[in-house]
Amino acid sequence: MKKTGHLIHEYLRSSKRFPHIWCAGCGIGIFMNALIRVIDRLGYRKDDVVLISGIGCAGRLPVYVDFNTLHTTHGRALTFATGIKLAKPRLKVITVMGDGDAIAIGGNHLIHAARRNVEMATFVINNQVYGMTGGQCSPTTPYGVITTSSPYGNPEPDFDICRLIEAAGAVFVGRSTVYHIHLLDRLIGKALERKGFAMVEVVSQCVTYSGRWLGLDSAVEMMKWQRDRSIVVEKAKRLSEAELKGKIVIGVLVDKERPTYHEECNKLL
Ligand code: SF4
Repeated sequence: MKKTGHLIHEYLRSSKRFPHIWCAGCGIGIFMNALIRVIDRLGYRKDDVVLISGIGCAGRLPVYVDFNTLHTTHGRALTFATGIKLAKPRLKVITVMGDGDAIAIGGNHLIHAARRNVEMATFVINNQVYGMTGGQCSPTTPYGVITTSSPYGNPEPDFDICRLIEAAGAVFVGRSTVYHIHLLDRLIGKALERKGFAMVEVVSQCVTYSGRWLGLDSAVEMMKWQRDRSIVVEKAKRLSEAELKGKIVIGVLVDKERPTYHEECNKLL
């Protein structure tokens, strides 16, 4: 059996792209490790995988791994991904975005990719803040939290990314934290194998900014915060809206069938 350390090094562009830019304790590395593990387990060839990102800390991920990769403009990862999938349907198309990239400037592309049901796996790493630009509010920053751009507390409610994408028509929607690593592995696998548009929200820690706003001063504290607030979807179904306030509902949230964009186009042809 391969050791994880060795496995990761088979997929990193170690000689060209390191040291990486992520802060020590950032959750993005945990997600990257999981993604590589699952891709290896599923046996995809590196040449058959296309990994696409936009801008932000999460957007750097494809730079470090040895697949076909594109580091695109802010919020536009899904437009490039859609083009690639339409031109080369046999490729395994994967997008990785942060919450600012996916839900703010890229929000329109996200809902329309889900509506069209273009076959791809999309991972939104949600650390509730714009990390790369200095800790400003993102659409997933909780109400009342003090950030660089909300010094008196965030006056806006936060988005529920999964509900939004469910309503837009995604055939698979899941949520995990980076603390729940076995669940995260399972959801990544399901999203990669799904026919149609699959999205997984990955609740992660930004130790440098959102940790500070929440009064948590280490990655360990932030991961305990994820553990203590999470509730599996089967249990959550038995609770009221009020009881679920502030909880992170994890697990498979949507799993259904409908024709993909390619299938609909083939019907017309
Ligand atoms: Fe991670 Fe936050 Fe550092 Fe960005 S700023 S690398 S999200 S810890």
